Amino acid sequence: MQIAVSGGKGGTGKSTVAINLAVALNNLGIDLTFADLDVEAPNDHLLLGVELGSEEPVMQFMPKFDYSKCTKCRKCAEVCEEHAIITLKDGTPFLMPNLCSGCRACEIVCPVPGAIQEAFRVIGHTYVTETPYGFTLVTGKLKEGEERSMPLVVAAKRKAQELQEGILFVDTAAGTGNTVSKAVEFSNLLIAVTEPTPLGIHDTELILELGNLMEMPTWVVINRSDLGEKERVYELADKYGAEVVAEIPYSENIVRSYVEGKPVVLTEYPEARIFKGLAKKVLEFLGGGE
Ligand code: SF4
Ligand code: SF4
Repeated sequence: MQIAVSGGKGGTGKSTVAINLAVALNNLGIDLTFADLDVEAPNDHLLLGVELGSEEPVMQFMPKFDYSKCTKCRKCAEVCEEHAIITLKDGTPFLMPNLCSGCRACEIVCPVPGAIQEAFRVIGHTYVTETPYGFTLVTGKLKEGEERSMPLVVAAKRKAQELQEGILFVDTAAGTGNTVSKAVEFSNLLIAVTEPTPLGIHDTELILELGNLMEMPTWVVINRSDLGEKERVYELADKYGAEVVAEIPYSENIVRSYVEGKPVVLTEYPEARIFKGLAKKVLEFLGGGE
């Protein structure tokens, strides 16, 4: 069982919904493992008020040229779709590591045995953190300057699956790019967090399309529901057969709860009820075996 929380655009409160829902579910007795797959800007540990735990590097293949063997035929540069290999006038290849996706096409196509050797570089890390909320948090974090987040999403999701107890609860990056699709893949439920602004509504449509494409039940949570045209979100949800399951009005209490180092669902603030209600709805969904 896997639940994904996503949001079309950044800053919609996606992570707020994800961590509070996870804490509320755990309080209802649901075992889960939480994966923060927003690898370019993981912040769930900050919102949960915990330090990142044990660190493991994520390595990626890159070619290493043995110039004593290389015949300067340029075949490696020609096959590289990422344009990560440039060649000098005489054909000598050079690698631009940050552009390399680790696909190994250059290694496969090189006609000279040993001219391309295996090397690896660290492109980021995964972290495993035991939270005080009863569940494990797995975080993927891309190294600064790296451009390819997909291998990190794959590595962090795999790590979370290895450690999975109960539900795999996934918080994705913003947007609808291929890393979001990878994070959402195989979910039994997609929860799209949006805000009722023109940009929020536009991007919500993209995430609802993704849910339809992947044929998964999709719910919508409207954050800052009092600051825009929430009726348009309802219309959009209707169009895609999605259900609006919660509205969260603009709240300074949520910010206060972060300052206090406590998810709002564990506080006495009235907003706690919203997340408890959402968790109960998820529990019903799970019980329904949908
Ligand atoms: S591994 Fe793939 S991306 Fe990297 S240099 Fe070789 S062909 Fe290019
Ligand atoms: S394909 Fe092999 S031999 Fe040809 S330029 Fe690249 S490394 Fe050298």
